[in-house]
Amino acid sequence: MAFLDLSQLNKSFGPNHVVKDFDLSIAQGEFVSLLGPSGCGKTTVLRMVAGFETPSSGAIRIDGQDMTHLRPNQRNIGMVFQAYALFPNLTVAQNVAFGLKVAGVARAETQTRVDEMLALIGLPDLGGRYPYQLSGGQQQRVALARALAVRPKVLLLDEPLSALDAKIRASLRREIRAIQQRLGITTIFVTHDQEEALSMSDRVVVMNGGRADQIGTPFEIYNTPATRFVAGFVGTLNTFQAVVTDPATGTVTLGDTPIALHRPVDAAAGTTVTLAMRPETATLGIGEPGDVVLRARISDVQFLGAIIRVTADLGGDSLTLDTFNRASTPPPDVGAPVTISMPPAGLVVLVA
Ligand code: ATP
Repeated sequence: MAFLDLSQLNKSFGPNHVVKDFDLSIAQGEFVSLLGPSGCGKTTVLRMVAGFETPSSGAIRIDGQDMTHLRPNQRNIGMVFQAYALFPNLTVAQNVAFGLKVAGVARAETQTRVDEMLALIGLPDLGGRYPYQLSGGQQQRVALARALAVRPKVLLLDEPLSALDAKIRASLRREIRAIQQRLGITTIFVTHDQEEALSMSDRVVVMNGGRADQIGTPFEIYNTPATRFVAGFVGTLNTFQAVVTDPATGTVTLGDTPIALHRPVDAAAGTTVTLAMRPETATLGIGEPGDVVLRARISDVQFLGAIIRVTADLGGDSLTLDTFNRASTPPPDVGAPVTISMPPAGLVVLVA
């Protein structure tokens, strides 16, 4: 049974239909990211859950209760925004206590909860400071503490890390996830950063033009993208054309080379389909038994330190491969003939 259920949500601003037939069921304690490019409707979905926008149609249920038409303060939701949005004239402790004061929580209980929250975010001694005396990362942690202090049923995070520099972002990612798991709070996280979505989430919703293109675990989204859009938006990708020879067994040909995918393909024999492959799934040379083997010629080599990025010409299409630098093997020479091996599972057939 879903804890948070969005059913057939639609939202239009005048003629602009920005959220389309959006369905999403989230289990209690789950961390779900909405991932997509600017303007795809992520924030609008979040704002409808929070109650700042009214859906044009559809329903929002939390813990079995229909919330669709309740005001934001009746929904018991905590929210953290991109800009820190702390009250500048209140101390850290007063900021964290703000929602509790509004809710009429007694003074002693408020003090206990503020202390708990400041300990939770790892800033137990900074209650007396003002926001301007904190770093950006600390301010976002206080914003998180303020959102969590009222013990909301659902936590909504709208690009909370995007104003921070890369190093702080990476450490706050882990911290937010750890806090979320410790509290077991159901969370929706909006981001356009695939690495954030993949590294933090139980499941990711990839949005495209107001719709959910795919909903799945990070592993599923990355390794078996359902559409061309998802494949292109998440990670980098090689694509090449192949012709289906036997849909039932999943045999396709690339030029003259047969490729056995070992799983049915949803396209008729003779159809040209796109095969997609991540740069890191192939190896140079002979790989594992059962691997797809292609012959190619090296056309470019980039030494990136940890990784050697090789471009190989298949005789028409070209493939980019990322191989780990193992120190003992020097990078291959441009122009050298090579064998490329890849597991059939690493080849995704994109029909949509
Ligand atoms: P971003 O990452 O840039 O915030 P997003 O995926 O969160 O993008 P939304 O903010 O949900 O996208 O916006 C989706 C579309 O709806 C955009 O075209 C935006 O201009 C439009 N939109 C959002 N809010 C309003 C509003 N209040 N009035 C009119 N149009 C709006």
